[in-house]
Amino acid sequence: MSAKRLDGKACASSVESELADRIESLKSSGVRPHLAVIIVGDDPASHVYVNSKVRMCKRIGIRSTHVELPEDTTEEILREHILAMNSQDDLHGILIQSPLPNHMNEEALTDLIDPSKDVDGFHPSNLGRIVQGRLDGMVPCTPAGVMRMLRWAKIDLTGKKAVVIGRSFNVGMTQALLLAAKGADATVTVVHSRTQNPQKECMEADIIVAAVGRPEMVKASWVKPGAVVVDVGINRVDDDTRDRGWRLAGDVAPDVSSVASWLSPVPGGVGPMTIAMLMENTVRSAELRNQK
Ligand code: NAP
Repeated sequence: MSAKRLDGKACASSVESELADRIESLKSSGVRPHLAVIIVGDDPASHVYVNSKVRMCKRIGIRSTHVELPEDTTEEILREHILAMNSQDDLHGILIQSPLPNHMNEEALTDLIDPSKDVDGFHPSNLGRIVQGRLDGMVPCTPAGVMRMLRWAKIDLTGKKAVVIGRSFNVGMTQALLLAAKGADATVTVVHSRTQNPQKECMEADIIVAAVGRPEMVKASWVKPGAVVVDVGINRVDDDTRDRGWRLAGDVAPDVSSVASWLSPVPGGVGPMTIAMLMENTVRSAELRNQK
């Protein structure tokens, strides 16, 4: 068997065209969705992520403000930026690119963002809503993107056994909540670094979402024939055969394709969906503000 490709790029492009209509309709009431992205320091990977977010904004007609601050910026200065953005009426989304420098308290700064502008979905009130089963708020983009991609591929989750590898609040734990939520209705196991036998847990799963940050950890021998496998991982691994000396690898080994029914590629799977969901959160925030 060769798994069908869970094509995040294609799904993201269908989200993009839906958003173009919604942006057009906001425009007719004089509103242009507006996202601010704040980046502190010069981590090259973070700059790549921010640039791709800004590019997508431009492509679909979202205004973007890109704030670049030096590594030695004080927390006080960043706090002032956030508070000013909270009260800016024509701004609908605020994103602080992670990671922040070590001298900053990322959690406390996230807490300061107006939850209605928290397009990353990391504010405790947005995460708390998910626990309550209220999925109409700002849902973190990566797990929301995985759910959208599964729906798009018409993969039925009802009553299925799902294993999520990873329990970070931004990906794994939220993913587990979304898979178990009413409407999705999977039965979910969360695997983490203290799980005794991750392979055994995975072998029983109909759906595996790997969000662990360990290159190619999930092997074909971990996967039940016909299972759906979503690879969230983005890992840089050394590769002498490439001019640049490295390649991107997911958390899932390529040979899983011979066992799974669906597999998301890296790159071109969850990555594009994460950005698409960020755009959607920004548009939704603008729509909600416009209805007030
Ligand atoms: P993270 O915060 O480092 O969390 C990793 C999780 O994996 C933790 O819960 C950890 O368990 C668990 N873990 C680590 N080693 C393990 C092992 N040997 N067995 C089982 N579980 C293990 O990472 P993250 O932010 O969730 O990201 C995970 C991956 O997704 C990374 O590769 C990241 O680059 C990628 N990512 C991709 C996107 C995208 O758009 N495609 C977005 C976000 C993240 P403990 O809690 O016990 O430590």
